[in-house]
Amino acid sequence: MCACILLWRIFKYLEFECCCSSNLKTKIRANRRTKMKLWRETMSSKENPPKKKGCDKGIVERFKMRLDLIFDYNGLVNQGATCYLNSVLQVLFMTKDFREAVESHCGQDQKTADFHLKSLFKALKTSETHTKDILSILGIGNVYEQRDAAEYFENILSMVNPYVSQIFKGHLRHTMRCSEGHVTSDEPGPFWTLPLSIENPSDSNKTYSVRDGFEKFFKSSTVSEMYCDQCNEKSYSTIACKMEHHPKILTLLLKRFEFDYHSMSYTKNDCCVEVPHTLRTKNCDYELYAVVDHVGSLRGGHYTARIKSYDDHNWYVFDDSYVTQPNPQSISHMNNERSQSVYLLMYKKSRAPDQPGEEEIKKRGGIKVYGRGMEENRRRIEENKRGME
Ligand SMILES: [Zn+2]
Repeated sequence: MCACILLWRIFKYLEFECCCSSNLKTKIRANRRTKMKLWRETMSSKENPPKKKGCDKGIVERFKMRLDLIFDYNGLVNQGATCYLNSVLQVLFMTKDFREAVESHCGQDQKTADFHLKSLFKALKTSETHTKDILSILGIGNVYEQRDAAEYFENILSMVNPYVSQIFKGHLRHTMRCSEGHVTSDEPGPFWTLPLSIENPSDSNKTYSVRDGFEKFFKSSTVSEMYCDQCNEKSYSTIACKMEHHPKILTLLLKRFEFDYHSMSYTKNDCCVEVPHTLRTKNCDYELYAVVDHVGSLRGGHYTARIKSYDDHNWYVFDDSYVTQPNPQSISHMNNERSQSVYLLMYKKSRAPDQPGEEEIKKRGGIKVYGRGMEENRRRIEENKRGME
């Protein structure tokens, strides 16, 4: 093989398609750097020493094989037992709206979580990075202690600028009514995650359905002996929960870690759950884009994250320093997955409250309900869809 063909082949694998986005330009530069490093390593590698004849082809093939093992995203160093933090940081980084809000609304105050998140995201775009500054700002001293990913997910969201965290923030309203219909309690409140109690199915072959658990969360329940001022007596009351504000990103927390009063300690529920790819509320549709998994016990387990990229729509597995792509078989299973490891589930809104669903549109007899032309409405819906991507 002549030298110019060899050079052309190398160039082909070092080049990326052109793109105007500045974020992607950073990524392209990073990829080139990573690939250059990989090329140098391949050249100096002593594995499978090439034959004298056709040695250039051997190097290119080995370079291609190594190239197949790297991806556009970078890992986070485990500082001891900090996989709980790495998994949620990767979810935040991969949530494009959150990352962009951090980048555009972060000040210069080095005491804020925003500042350190921005630095972390900048570093993560180009190479594997550490989390020492984030650990410090979160007040985590002992990096060898296994902690709860959900707790630190909420801690980070509580510490950053409200503008940055708002996409994860929803609002619930709990209302209690007496048997005569008088409102005895009305409490609104924000939430970052919706905690779902996992009830072990009576049949061990069956699974806990996240969809059923989610629907049950909003079903009203009856409690006895609640006092009503207007009736001036105690009576059966009904408690209802309603989602008043649907967050752009809806996070479900599967309550796998519960306090057991028999053993007087926290135990983990490894029950198999069925994870829906989409969720529907009265007004909104949501699509699954990130999962934080936990395997092992409460104190000695390991967290990883599986996240669907906003850029290329592929799923990636983030396991501390390692970023890989799941095999195609497991991706097809993710459409209605059964899993003993899923812990946090992140869904992004795919239909806004003022956008009717397909069934509703059919019921109303077509898309003209807006009172505008059909083309105009189609254009708006397409724009909304693109805006959510
Ligand atoms: Zn009453």
